[in-house]
Amino acid sequence: MSYKVLDENSVVDYILSVDVTKEFFGDSKLMVKEIGDGNLNYVYIVSSNDNESKALILKQAVPYLRIVGESYPLSRKRMTYEIRSLTHFSKLSEQYVPYIYHTDEDMSVIVMQYLGEHIIMRNGMIDGIIYPDFAEHIASFLANTLFKTSSLYLSGTDKRELIGEFNSNSELCALTEMFVFTAPYMEHETNEINPLIMNEASELQADVEFKTKILELKYKFMNQTDALLHGDLHTGSIMINKDETYVIDSEFAFFGPFGFDVGALLGNLVMSWVSHFERSGDEKYQAWILDSIKVFLMRFEDMFLELWTEQESSSLVEKGFLSSKEQTAFKDSFMLNILQESVGFAGAKICRRQLGIAGVADIRAIEDKEARARAEKMALKVGTSFVKKYKTIKNVNDVINLIKRVV
Ligand code: ADP
Ligand code: MG
Repeated sequence: MSYKVLDENSVVDYILSVDVTKEFFGDSKLMVKEIGDGNLNYVYIVSSNDNESKALILKQAVPYLRIVGESYPLSRKRMTYEIRSLTHFSKLSEQYVPYIYHTDEDMSVIVMQYLGEHIIMRNGMIDGIIYPDFAEHIASFLANTLFKTSSLYLSGTDKRELIGEFNSNSELCALTEMFVFTAPYMEHETNEINPLIMNEASELQADVEFKTKILELKYKFMNQTDALLHGDLHTGSIMINKDETYVIDSEFAFFGPFGFDVGALLGNLVMSWVSHFERSGDEKYQAWILDSIKVFLMRFEDMFLELWTEQESSSLVEKGFLSSKEQTAFKDSFMLNILQESVGFAGAKICRRQLGIAGVADIRAIEDKEARARAEKMALKVGTSFVKKYKTIKNVNDVINLIKRVV
């Protein structure tokens, strides 16, 4: 089907024109509601008139930035990468990706499982909800998707072919290069800096040690093709309840450094921890966050190494190339490098959310300006130390200590 922008009426015709989704609903009459809270795309719930829980989500990209309108063009090709990456992730980590019923690259449409009993994790964390198994779930998602799209698992040919499916997601990579690694650390018209933290902002923008490290991280982002990444794995890209965790919204997918998604998540958990000093003062909740960070990072490493052990030979390390002792030492330093990089990327993610466009609601939506400024300053402190010190990290406890030091 050639591309056309759908609306609440034509969504029904579209759903009925596709065999699987037509079958899903049978003869029921359909209701459609647009629920997108994102800035970019349209998200529709399509549900059965006589049974509202029988529902699907249809998401469509339009060739412009939704919040601004048609005057701000943005290629709808981004949905092609979301379709390809979510489909690939669901093969590697089925439990943590919504079931995909139908995809259509020409129409920039994906139809997936409706997560009616889940909420966006960021909102849950703002409300202080504990998700006991989250760390384990997301560690499993990341270990599987990262390991199994890397040269530790795929043949050279398969890996290069897979890279080919993603390597022109340049428009969205350029957004990250600009808004995560550049604009926030210089004077730039897109920055949104709370006047109460102007001194801290100027100090950071003049900190050459910090900016040099940011360039180092940006270079890794631009050139290191370790694995297929989600590309924007913050707590707003996760839908969750006490029992289940689902990753959504992977339009920034590309081949990049192992530590980038791990770092994005780490950074967002840290920002939630910081926000609760002002939001709730709930020490128990903050302790749960720190514990989840620890479990997440440790279980990620365990699971990644388990997958590696199962894979005796790979395009990187032929069986017998190193003795078993040498191999263990190699793996240890490999994993430490991923941990260090994750901390560096987390730091960049934290700092940019305080200074640049698009902050996180956890902190920016704190109404009292003074309280918000205190949270922003604390976040900047953790972020800055992450960026400056990521290469000195030796283990997960070092990460926790760097976080706690700012209190
Ligand atoms: P965007 O790319 O525009 O940010 P998202 O994929 O983040 O779009 O979706 C926007 C919102 O739609 C989400 O924040 C969530 O509230 C809702 N949503 C998206 N996918 C689902 C789903 N599978 N089930 C239920 N709600 C969803
Ligand atoms: Mg989104």
